[in-house]
Amino acid sequence: MKEHASAAARFRNAPSLAIVVPCYNEEEILLDSCAELIRQLQRLIRIGKATADSKIYLVDDGSRDNTWELMREIADREDSIVAVKLSRNRGHQNALHAGLSQTIEEAVVSIDADLQDGAENIETMLDHYLQGSDVVYGVRSERHTDTFFKRFTAEGYYKVMHKLGVDLVFNHADFRLLSRRALNALLQYPEANLFLRGMVRQLGFRSSQVEYRRLSRAAGESKYPLRRMLSLAWSGITAFSSAPLRAITLLGLAASAFSFIVIVWVLATRLFTANAVPGWASILLPLLFIGSVQLLCLGVIGEYIAKLFEEVKQRPRYHIDTVLGVEKSGAIKQK
Ligand code: UDP
Ligand code: MG
Repeated sequence: MKEHASAAARFRNAPSLAIVVPCYNEEEILLDSCAELIRQLQRLIRIGKATADSKIYLVDDGSRDNTWELMREIADREDSIVAVKLSRNRGHQNALHAGLSQTIEEAVVSIDADLQDGAENIETMLDHYLQGSDVVYGVRSERHTDTFFKRFTAEGYYKVMHKLGVDLVFNHADFRLLSRRALNALLQYPEANLFLRGMVRQLGFRSSQVEYRRLSRAAGESKYPLRRMLSLAWSGITAFSSAPLRAITLLGLAASAFSFIVIVWVLATRLFTANAVPGWASILLPLLFIGSVQLLCLGVIGEYIAKLFEEVKQRPRYHIDTVLGVEKSGAIKQK
């Protein structure tokens, strides 16, 4: 799977490449990241792994800082840059989807603006593409740059997802290459709650993995605070597994069985012995316990209903405000 491509082993010709970069408040890092991406892209074109009409799509996810102004300048100056502005902040997954939907190239790589995933790894991804892979997953070989907490929670999450029967690539986030046909398939998925790393697993097609070491963020801070991490994790679970609902049913069954045993015990004590089971605690505790378990279960059901509600409304995931830099290629239309 991880073999290196030699020119002779190519199944495909060098593709036109799109690199999609979602950006939210990235003014501190954007210029450096763009310079690096342009450098990498030019190198790939020079060594014949991508064609000269390849492009970098920067998506401004409704940033509050100068990100969009910087993007406009770069798009003005550089032929290979397309700048896409969303009408407001819609979150990483939506911003990424917006960028992907704008591309027309044959191979599309998604990468975070902080380049923690290392733009130089795109070359290896392209090698896999040239050898016939339609989906190439970037997999972090180790995560020493992440905090202990992030590593710990991430590992736990993959384990839980695996137990719930959700198929994910371990330690793969959103650094990946998709061929045009894989991307077209992905864009057909209508769900409002995007969990792209799970959706891509549903596509099928020939896939492979590229391992890399994740660097730390050069500047700026993570845009994924705990709250957002939890929210992404939860959408991953609810969008791909109904196991929590089944767990509730099992919990209900277990509680019923337990209650039945207690009832038999209380009645038997009353009928066949001289005394009854004493005390108000024996009434109050089960009451509290069952009450809270019921609320919890209702909460889980409520979460699924909320997701259903989101989906049935069929609202657009985002609106595109402006696209700059497409006139240079003349082929990209606004969707
Ligand atoms: N991002 C985005 N919209 C958001 C939050 C984040 O487009 O609402 C982008 C961000 O600019 C970056 C990527 O998503 O390119 C990943 O964010 P970050 O690097 O902060 O996440 P981490 O690497 O800490 O998980
Ligand atoms: Mg990052």
